[in-house]
Amino acid sequence: MRLSRYFLPVLKETPAEAQIVSHRLMLRAGMIKQAGAGIYSWLPLGFKVLRKLENIVHEEQMRVGHIPMLMPTLQPADLWRESGRYDDYGEEMLRIKDRQGRDLLYGPTNEEMITDIFRSHVGSYKDLPLTLYHIQWKFRDEMRPRFGVMRGREFYMKDGYTFDLTQEDALHAYNRHLVSYLRTYERMGLQAIPMRADSGPIGGDDTHEFLVLAETGESEVFYDAQITDLKFGDREVDYESHEACRAVLEEFTSRYARTDETHDEALFAEVPEARRRTARGIEVGQIFYFGTKYSDAMGATVQGPDGKSVPVHMGSHGIGVSRLVGAIIEASHDERGIIWPEGVTPFHAGIVNLKQGDAEADAACEALYAGITALGLDPLYDDRDERAGGKFATMDLIGLPWRITVGPRGLKNGVVELTCRRTGTSEEMPPEDAIARLAKIYAPHRGVLVG
Ligand code: ATP
Ligand code: MG
Repeated sequence: MRLSRYFLPVLKETPAEAQIVSHRLMLRAGMIKQAGAGIYSWLPLGFKVLRKLENIVHEEQMRVGHIPMLMPTLQPADLWRESGRYDDYGEEMLRIKDRQGRDLLYGPTNEEMITDIFRSHVGSYKDLPLTLYHIQWKFRDEMRPRFGVMRGREFYMKDGYTFDLTQEDALHAYNRHLVSYLRTYERMGLQAIPMRADSGPIGGDDTHEFLVLAETGESEVFYDAQITDLKFGDREVDYESHEACRAVLEEFTSRYARTDETHDEALFAEVPEARRRTARGIEVGQIFYFGTKYSDAMGATVQGPDGKSVPVHMGSHGIGVSRLVGAIIEASHDERGIIWPEGVTPFHAGIVNLKQGDAEADAACEALYAGITALGLDPLYDDRDERAGGKFATMDLIGLPWRITVGPRGLKNGVVELTCRRTGTSEEMPPEDAIARLAKIYAPHRGVLVG
């Protein structure tokens, strides 16, 4: 993309309404525009990051055998009357009437709708296990929408639903989700710690939340410092195997890590004092096993091997895709702007032409642009006739992890400059070497579609 033809409405001033850094930077970098309280338009740069996260979520879900689909945002109230949640959900539910006077709601989540789909089409244990998921907009009429996309009213969420014959199988589905989420967040350049949590209006017994440590997080968290040394990395796990998934779950959840809702002072005191940590965290996902709560209420049964009809065991599993955009920025920025991890960056590299209009500099930039694009990567070329300082400030603000600076002086010696946004270090090298370096840097992140 050439910046002169892109739509990147960066702001010079710091928006007064934004209280936290991710909200400020998303507004300043032209990623979002508020449309109403807790409701945002995703401008091109923000939309690109949202799509990257969405792609990672899809790839990691499909890797473990979960099946994508799409349910609507609007749901008939009658389904929610069956589960009893139409009344229980309270003020957070946005209720709507259509012209026939029928009650609808903008879905805050989809347990009822998926249970209805299941009971309409699945009747035998032979069709289990089954995991269906979608990534769809949700609406919750939050009392205090704030912090930009972190606590919106409209937000984008992956929600997946598991159906199993037995509790044991359902717990395997739960463990498999936990393992797959570890990998998902790591691909986004994040450490998200699974913590024992409270189930809230979804209901159920077993639940973990995934928290990203950040000063601006809304949850208070308590954990054993050893937990932050754990890495999932690129290990191969047999996701079909109960033992393999349970082993990873145990590795990542055996140390103390809880949110304030489930915190237990006495248990925490057993962690050696030097390792005890209290911090703030951002909830970026949650997994639930809730047994037959919805299948009992809504008659979702299957015929078991003995011919008897039994309610299915269910779980639901959510990732806050739009909140993650803010959470990544909270975890990765400096005073000049955002620093995108390679796995989610909107553009892979910025090209800054120090002397637009200089025939040699222009030609070198075009060659770099073509070379990077030929790798299947997505460069952003700042081809505007602007001062170098302004171009650097824009690149730093929008946070591209790598920048190539091209100027007549360097070109005389056959070199351009490759700069790492995170460390600020620059290296001079021939343009071909800069392209080769980018190829190497992005090789581990190739799964993500360019978009
Ligand atoms: P919270 O405690 O933050 O209100 P929740 O526990 O009610 O969230 P879940 O039902 O677990 O949310 O939804 C799954 C994920 O969706 C959450 O982990 C979070 O990342 C995201 N999410 C929930 N509410 C919002 C919101 N208002 N804005 C943006 N993302 C949200
Ligand atoms: Mg939650």
